[in-house]
Amino acid sequence: MSVAALDINITKISKSRINEVDPANIQFGKVYSDHMLVACYENGAWQQAEIKPYGDLSLSPATTFMHYGQAIFEGIKAYKDPQGNPIIFRPYDNWKRFNRSAERMAMPAVPEELFIDGLRQLIDLDRNWIPTSEDTSLYIRPFMLAVDEFIGVRPAEKFMFIIITSPAGPYYNKPVSIYVHDEYVRAFPGGIGFTKAAGNYGMSMYPTQKVKEMGYDQILWTDGFEHKYVQEIGTMNVFFVLGDKVVTPDIAQDTILEGVTRDSVITLLREKGVTVEERPLSIDEIEAAYKAGQLKEAFGTGTAASIAPIYALTYRDDKMELPPLTEWENANWLKKELADIRYGRKTDTHNWLVRI
Ligand SMILES: *Cc1c(COP(=O)(O)O)cnc(C)c1O
Repeated sequence: MSVAALDINITKISKSRINEVDPANIQFGKVYSDHMLVACYENGAWQQAEIKPYGDLSLSPATTFMHYGQAIFEGIKAYKDPQGNPIIFRPYDNWKRFNRSAERMAMPAVPEELFIDGLRQLIDLDRNWIPTSEDTSLYIRPFMLAVDEFIGVRPAEKFMFIIITSPAGPYYNKPVSIYVHDEYVRAFPGGIGFTKAAGNYGMSMYPTQKVKEMGYDQILWTDGFEHKYVQEIGTMNVFFVLGDKVVTPDIAQDTILEGVTRDSVITLLREKGVTVEERPLSIDEIEAAYKAGQLKEAFGTGTAASIAPIYALTYRDDKMELPPLTEWENANWLKKELADIRYGRKTDTHNWLVRI
């Protein structure tokens, strides 16, 4: 039952494409659900939103975002509870972050009704696309594009807000090896590191490719001044367990993407009584902890992977290897706790779940 405030024009597809998905072998990002939501911003206002069959867009080759990257996105997941009811995990946090990205990129804010009600109506319609087996979900991708037909450099006046969704299979949490980069930079104070702006990902491809050629899975980004303070791994936030404390870089300098998973992890650990420090963390401190036998766990966090364990960290000539994953108290506990909450198996004491 959907009680939504937002009036949306809905055009349903005539025949679902759901049989294109093999539930036993879901390939992330290969198939998109039957419908998408599209809303246009023109003359200073959001026009009526539409839900319509998923399909191609038709845009002029002079469209702003194609040239200047005035484009932002979000990543959210929907799950099914044991009764088969859809659950969306913390979408209000993604909505707020989307608007922080929009402001920094000189794009209009998306109102709550459009983002949240739009999302709920879309998920309601495509609820059959949420896979049900353990570790699967429906990945939700809201994004906004500047769509003026104009190649002069200035903030656009027309925008499109779109939501598409795609079933996501189990994410194999194969521990990753990390190369600590002291050449390339992801973010610096005054930049856009705190936003999910398209350019942040475009610029990361080359350094990531280099690191993969060297035999590592991901980059640990460091600060742009000294290449000393750790920021994030790939497109995930990063946590280190040093002795009995959990440490993660703070967001004060706007160089860190404020992850919803990051916040969930900090909240759950603190409630459990674990000390979590959000502060500048240098690679020297991590190396010193390693030498003292105090580097217990290291993991990335994000909507896609949830918790991604790191088995080795290489900095210059120093390869730091972590203890076997079975000994990791925090990461293993967090992974299970987060899954129990997301699949509605545990009481939602934080008001993180939005039901349709
Ligand atoms: C999306 C993203 C994250 C993780 O954020 P979540 O809200 O937890 O998914 C972390 N770092 C970067 C750079 C990201 O783009």
